Amino acid sequence: MPLLFQNFASCMSVTRRLVCLLALGLMVLVFETSPEWLHLDTDGMIARAVVMQIGGPLLAALACLAAAIRSKGSDRQAWFSFAIGSGLYLAGNLTYLGYALTGIESRFPALPEAAYFVMAVFFAKGILLYGKVRQQISRVQVYNFVLIACAVMLASMFLLNRAVDKSVMPPFATGLAVFYPALWFSVAASGAISLLLYAQPGKTYAFGLLLAAMLAESVADFAYALQLLRGTYENGGLTQLLWVTSAGLIVLAGLEQRVFAGRPAAQPVRRPVHSVVEAAIPSIAIAIVLVSGSLTSALGNGTFALLAVVLALGFAGFSGLREYWIINTQKQLRSTVEAKSAALEKSQAQVESVLESTSDSVIVLDHDWLVVYFNHRAAEEIDNSAMLKPGVCLWDLFPAAETSGEAAHYRKAAATRQPVEFELFVEDRQIWLGIQAFPTPDGLSIFFHNITEQKQARDEVLHLAHHDPLTGLANRTMFYDRLHALAARRARFAVILIDVDHFKEVNDTLGHSVGDALLKATAERFRTGLGPDDLVARLGGDEFVIITENADASEATEMARRYAMAAGTPHEIEGESIRLGASIGIAISEGNGEDPDRLFRNADIALYAAKADARGAFRIFEPAMEAGLQDRQALRADLRAALGNGEFMLMYQPQVELRGEQVSGFEALIRWRHPTRGLIGPEVFIPIAEESGLIIAIGEWALSTACAEAMKWPTEVSLAVNLSTREFAGSDLASNVARALKESGLPAERLELEITESVLLKNSRANLETLRRLRALGLRIAIDDFGTGYSSLAYLQQFPFSKIKIDRSFISGLPESDASQAIVRSVIGLGIALGMRVTAEGVETESQYDWVRLGCNEVQGYFLSPPVAASEVMATMARLNARRDGERAEQARKAG
Ligand code: C2E
Ligand code: CA
Ligand code: CA
Repeated sequence: MPLLFQNFASCMSVTRRLVCLLALGLMVLVFETSPEWLHLDTDGMIARAVVMQIGGPLLAALACLAAAIRSKGSDRQAWFSFAIGSGLYLAGNLTYLGYALTGIESRFPALPEAAYFVMAVFFAKGILLYGKVRQQISRVQVYNFVLIACAVMLASMFLLNRAVDKSVMPPFATGLAVFYPALWFSVAASGAISLLLYAQPGKTYAFGLLLAAMLAESVADFAYALQLLRGTYENGGLTQLLWVTSAGLIVLAGLEQRVFAGRPAAQPVRRPVHSVVEAAIPSIAIAIVLVSGSLTSALGNGTFALLAVVLALGFAGFSGLREYWIINTQKQLRSTVEAKSAALEKSQAQVESVLESTSDSVIVLDHDWLVVYFNHRAAEEIDNSAMLKPGVCLWDLFPAAETSGEAAHYRKAAATRQPVEFELFVEDRQIWLGIQAFPTPDGLSIFFHNITEQKQARDEVLHLAHHDPLTGLANRTMFYDRLHALAARRARFAVILIDVDHFKEVNDTLGHSVGDALLKATAERFRTGLGPDDLVARLGGDEFVIITENADASEATEMARRYAMAAGTPHEIEGESIRLGASIGIAISEGNGEDPDRLFRNADIALYAAKADARGAFRIFEPAMEAGLQDRQALRADLRAALGNGEFMLMYQPQVELRGEQVSGFEALIRWRHPTRGLIGPEVFIPIAEESGLIIAIGEWALSTACAEAMKWPTEVSLAVNLSTREFAGSDLASNVARALKESGLPAERLELEITESVLLKNSRANLETLRRLRALGLRIAIDDFGTGYSSLAYLQQFPFSKIKIDRSFISGLPESDASQAIVRSVIGLGIALGMRVTAEGVETESQYDWVRLGCNEVQGYFLSPPVAASEVMATMARLNARRDGERAEQARKAG
C-alpha cells in the first residue's frame, strides 16, 4: 500500500513536471514570437523586453532564495550561490535598462558585463556545491574538472576564432566577448561531469534543469558573442529567447527543490560509469581541443592552429602529469599494501608459533563452527584426531559435546561474546580437561589442556583441608562448616560429642602405633551406620563428633547408645584385645536459630557431665550443667594453689579382717579443705587433678603423708594408698614410692597400693613393669573397684595382686539382688582360685556385713566406720576392737 502510494505520488510529480515545462515553453514562445493578436507597438515591444529581462532573473533569484531557505547544509549554500548569480543577472539587466532609459549609449564591455562574469563564477560555485563535488573530490577529479573546463573553454574560443579575425571591436572587447561564452560552457561542462560522476538521489531532475539553464545560457552567450564580433547584435531574437529560457529553467529547478526539501540529506552515490568517464576525461579534453583546433585551421586560420598545437601539447603534458600522479599513487599504494601484508604475514606467523609452542591445545573456529586452525597439541590431545582438519565441523569432531554440556558453554560464549571457562570430564578417557573459549570477531577460539593431575592434586588438597589424615573422617574445619551451615538454615539436628575413654592411657602405655590403629578402628565403627546426611568428624586426639539431622532427644540418645557400644566393643590390635569406652555429650538444635558455637559448647559441657557421671555414660545437655562446668573450671584454677597452701588432708578408713575380726589396716582417702567451699571429696577434684597433671604431686604428697602417719600406728596395722593410673605414666612411680618408704621409715610390707583396672586395661608392658618393680620393693598391690572396668579378667593372671576389692556398687545390691550375689560370689571364687584376698567395699548394713563375711576376707564400709581423721585412728581401732570383743563375749555368753 505505501509502495502504491509512492508510485502514484511519483507519477503525479512527473506529470506536474511536464506541465510546468510545457507552460514555460509556451510562455517563452508566445512572448518571443510576439504573435499578431498581441498587437504590440514599439512601446509594447520594449515593455515585453523589460518584462522578460527583468521578470525572468527576478523570478529565478526569488525561486533560488526560497530553495536556499528550505534547504540545509551545502545544498543551502548552493542555492544561495544560484540566488546571488541570478541576482547579479538581474542587476546587469537593470543596468542595461537604466542605460537604455536614460539614453546613455552602452558599448561592449560595460558595467553589466562585470555582473555577468561574476554571475558565472557564482553559478560555477553553486553547481560544484550542489553536486557535492567537494565532499568526494580527489586530486584526479580536480584535474578532470580543470581539464574539461579548459578544453571546453578553448574549444568555444576556437569556434569563434574566424569571427574574431573579423571582429569589429577592439582587441580587449573581442577577447572578452569570446571569453564570456567560453566561461559559461566550461561551467556547464563542470556541471555535466559532476552530474555524470555523482548520482544525487532525488536531485537529478533539479540538477538537470540547472544544467539545461546553463547550457541555454552558454549557447545564448555564444550567439551573443558572434553577433557582437560581427557587429550585428540586436536586442531580441534567439539569444533573448535562450536567456529567458535559462531563467525559466532556473525557476523550475528552484521549484523542483521542494520535492525533496523535507527529506534528510542523502549520501551521494558513486555511479558505476564514473570510472569509465574519469578515465576518458583527459582524452576527451584533448580530443575537444584538437578537433576544435583542427576545425579552425581547416577553416583557414593559422594563428589558432599554432595555438591549438601548443595547447594540445600543454594538455598532453597536463594529462601526463595526471598519469604520473596516478601511477605514483598506485605505486605508493602497492608498497603500502605490500608492507602491510608482509607485517600481517609476520604477525600471523608469530601468532602461529606462539600457538604451537603453548602447552594448551588450540582449535580456532569460524562462525559456522567450522575448524579454521588447530595446533599440533590439539591433534595429539583429541581422540579422533584423524578427523581434525580445517573445515571440519566442531559438532562432527565432538559428537558427545551436546550431551556432556560442552556445546552449551560454546554457544553461550558465542552468543554473549564473553569468554567461558569450564572443566569437562571425558568419560571414555577418564580424564579432566580445563577448557577456555574466547569469542573472536571471526568465531571462537578454544583452548584446552589435560588438568587431571592438577585436579587430583587440588581435590587432594581440598580433601586434606577438610579431612583428618589418620582416620579419613571429616576434620574440625569441615565439622564447623557443616555446623554453621545447618544452623544458618535453621535445621533441626543433634551434635553428639564422643570422647574415647582410656585412650590417653593406651597411647601412653602401648605406644602411638597402637593408639593410631585404635583410633582408625574406632573411626571405622563410627562411620558405619551413619545416615547419608550425617557427618562424623574427628576433632583431634580421642574426640569425635557426629552431626545428625532431624534427630530429637530420644533418637540422639539411641544413637549415643549405639556409639558407646561401638566404642566399648573390644579391639583386637597387634594380637591383644583392647577395650575402650566412650563418654558422650549431646546437644540438640531445635532449629530456632541457636548459635552454633554455643551448641557445640553445650555438647562439650554435656560430655564433661557424662565423664563425671560414670564411665561409658552419655548425657544430653541441660542448662544446669553449665553451672557445673564453670564450677569445674574455677576448681581447676584453685587446685593449683591447694597443695602449696596445705589445703589437702587425709582421712583413714579401717579395713577389718573377718577371720580374726581385727583392724588389719587403714585406707588413706584424700580431702580438700577449700578455703571458701569447705571440704571437697576426691571424686570431684581427682579427675580435674588428673587432667591437669597435678595428680602426680598430689599423689606424692598423699603417699608420704600417709606413710608418715602410719608410722604412728601399731606395726601390725597396714596402710592402703590409692594410685591414679595417670601416676603410672607421668612419673617414675617406683622410685617415688621407694623414696616415700625410705623417708618415712615405713616397712614396705605394711604398705598396700590400690590401683584400678585401667592400669592394666591393655596388657601394658610398661605398667606391668612398674608394678613388678613396686612389688620388688616388698609392698602389696590391690586391685580396686573390681568389676566396673571393661577389661577382661585375663590380666588378673598376669600379675600377683594381693587383694581384690569388690566395687561397692555390687555390695549395695546385697543381699537382695541375685545378680549382685552372683557377681560377688564369682569374685570370691576368683580370689580363691588365684590366691588373692577379697575385700568387700562400702558395706553399710548389718545384713550386707553378714552376707559378705561368709566369703570375703576383709570388709570396709560405713557399717564399721567411715573414714576418720588421723587423730581418730587409734580411737577407732580401739572402738572396733572393743566392739569385736563385746560381740565375742556376747557369743560366748549365748553359747554358754
Ligand atoms: P575408693 O578407693 O573406692 O575409696 C572408697 C570410697 O568409698 C571412699 O570415698 C569412701 O569414703 C567411700 N566409702 C567407704 N565406705 C562406704 C560406704 O559404706 N558407703 C559409701 N557410699 N561409701 C563408702 P572417697 O573418700 O570419697 O574416695 C573416693 C575415691 O577417690 C576413692 O575410691 C579413690 O578412688 C579416690 N581417692 C581417694 N583418695 C585418693 C588418693 O589419695 N589418691 C588417689 N589417686 N585417689 C584417691
Ligand atoms: Ca581405694
Ligand atoms: Ca574402691
